[in-house]
Amino acid sequence: MLPEIEELATVVVCEDDDPTRELLCDHLTADRYRVLPAPSASDALRLCAYKQPDLMVLDLGLPDAAGIEVLRRIRSADGASEGIDPRTPVIVLSGRGSEADRVRGFAAGADDYLVKPFHYPELAARVSAVLRRRGEGRREGALRVGELFVDPATRSVRVGEREVRLANKEFALLRALAADPRRVFTKEELLRDVWDYRSLGRTRTLDSHASRLRRKLDPDGSRYVFNCWGVGYRLIEG
Ligand code: CA
Repeated sequence: MLPEIEELATVVVCEDDDPTRELLCDHLTADRYRVLPAPSASDALRLCAYKQPDLMVLDLGLPDAAGIEVLRRIRSADGASEGIDPRTPVIVLSGRGSEADRVRGFAAGADDYLVKPFHYPELAARVSAVLRRRGEGRREGALRVGELFVDPATRSVRVGEREVRLANKEFALLRALAADPRRVFTKEELLRDVWDYRSLGRTRTLDSHASRLRRKLDPDGSRYVFNCWGVGYRLIEG
């Protein structure tokens, strides 16, 4: 069996220029990001609504709408009904680098602004800086539940001495459950807190993440992540 590739984060690359988009996607994929290409504004918004990316790289000159409108649309989204997380980090890419242009970008809610032409290593550094800041904004203390240790600051998880590597949403789910390990969290709560939306239709997403998380934490047992049928999940038995 091939080792499972752990992705660092999901990134939408919204850029209409095919060679630039493909180059960015190739590099980001090689750097272990899960990449969702979007050649238009409508594609970018659709991906935000259905895939809940961790970050978007957004070109300002798009064929169907101005990139700045995409950014405004994200920032004004109602996460609950539209599925778009209004806090989604966005790094703007633009051929226009005047101070006024950059101020306009930040005013619309950009987390960072990169002027074309740029070199990929700089974009990569900014992507990881924005993701790190986002993570620090949510920083909480480390949690210990019996043998299980969860550190949100470093994203490290251990069971006893064993290091457990989790994908993004698995980690977010664990952190949510570990905050109150005996409590039963309803599926609606977990969907809202971990995926930022309330759609009940997505409970299968939750269930599949929960079962992967259970196996990773305890491959041959059932010490963690209990399915309380019809209600939700809790980390350990009451
Ligand atoms: Ca363009």
